Amino acid sequence: MGNVVEKCTVKIEGTKLLGYGPLLVTHWGMSGPAILQLSAWGARVLEEMNYNFHVLVNWLNDTSEESLRKLLSATMTQHGAKKISNLNPFPVTNRLWEFLLQRAEINPENRWNELGKKSLNKLVNTMLNDRYAVSGKTTFKEEFVTAGGVSLSEIEVKSMQSKVVPGLYFAGEVMDIDGITGGFNFQAAWTTGFIAGKNAALD
Ligand SMILES: Cc1cc2nc3c(=O)[nH]c(=O)nc-3n(C[C@H](O)[C@H](O)[C@H](O)COP(=O)(O)OP(=O)(O)OC[C@H]3O[C@@H](n4cnc5c(N)ncnc54)[C@H](O)[C@@H]3O)c2cc1C
Repeated sequence: MGNVVEKCTVKIEGTKLLGYGPLLVTHWGMSGPAILQLSAWGARVLEEMNYNFHVLVNWLNDTSEESLRKLLSATMTQHGAKKISNLNPFPVTNRLWEFLLQRAEINPENRWNELGKKSLNKLVNTMLNDRYAVSGKTTFKEEFVTAGGVSLSEIEVKSMQSKVVPGLYFAGEVMDIDGITGGFNFQAAWTTGFIAGKNAALD
């Protein structure tokens, strides 16, 4: 809890959905831009999956298996006598490192030169393809923004007037816009509200 990894990539298994950027470990699970992007971009796909799916976390951003194996082999050569828990070769906190060792079923008391082939493979897999189950979504009103709404193709964007019902104007979340969180939804609501209000008053 409370750990931030600055650069991660997160995939949703069985889809092409990919989130990247900081990942935050919270008291209830994972958050941060890498995760929020996925919930925005994947809103419809996740709904189709009934919110039951797996995420695959690459804790080392887009590091390839080949370069990770090279790094681990260099660590084993240079720091073989050091305890695995004491020498964390990755840009993750020591607390997270200990957790990842647990996930890879590696005894943190072992030395780097005691890491056998099987454990090495498990560590590679944990660092690059750490698999977590997601079941369900958070309760109503914890969502930042709702996907869906009035289609933008039915709205005259210069005035926000409906192309279907003249004299009817739209603003904000009622439209089918779903911005990445961090200000874009507010911006969309304020901008479209301003345009819709101004044009409705002139109508
Ligand atoms: C927890 C959370 C965090 C968020 N964080 C961010 C963020 O960091 N950045 C960002 O950009 N966006 C964020 N958002 C999204 C942002 O708040 C919304 O996109 C934005 O407020 C939408 O504005 P709106 O005016 O379209 O709708 P709303 O703010 O939902 O306003 C609709 C209003 O209509 C009223 N209403 C509903 N039905 C009726 C009725 N029948 N009669 C009269 N009044 C009615 C409602 O009470 C409400 O006051 C967040 C949202 C949530 C829930």
